[in-house]
Amino acid sequence: MADNIFDKILRGEIPCHKVYEDDHVLAFLDIGPLSRGHTLVIPKESAVTLDALSDDSAAALGRVLPRICRAVKKATGCEDFNVLQNNGALAHQAVFHVHFHIIPRPDSSQGLGVGWRSAGTFDHADGAALARAIAAAIA
Ligand code: AMP
Repeated sequence: MADNIFDKILRGEIPCHKVYEDDHVLAFLDIGPLSRGHTLVIPKESAVTLDALSDDSAAALGRVLPRICRAVKKATGCEDFNVLQNNGALAHQAVFHVHFHIIPRPDSSQGLGVGWRSAGTFDHADGAALARAIAAAIA
């Protein structure tokens, strides 16, 4: 049985401020918010990273994410927001159960600060081979 903090929340062993629940999905407020209304949306399925998630759970998440985003916007009055989804420790994942962050961005000092590295150059020959490899790997 997986035993991270989100599994405990799903099993009702520790409390959360729930905002949404259905057969496949739970959403609740992040306890360490980057801004007011910072919300986490998680599948009930115990997958660590997004690529490991079943199509059914993925579809259920995709169906409700925009709806929860609209609700966060309405409740906070904040128009701008980021959706963040980390996979793996190097990618800043701290809780090893799939989750989407919805993070309101009311002003430049609150919410998600994104530091975008300067873009690299694009090699079209490599890009063509890479696109073919990724396309072939999609089952
Ligand atoms: P990540 O770095 O993407 O794995 O983010 C994990 C998030 O889980 C962080 O934003 C934490 O603040 C949040 N978190 C950890 N424990 C709890 C908890 N008990 N209730 C709500 N949010 C939590």
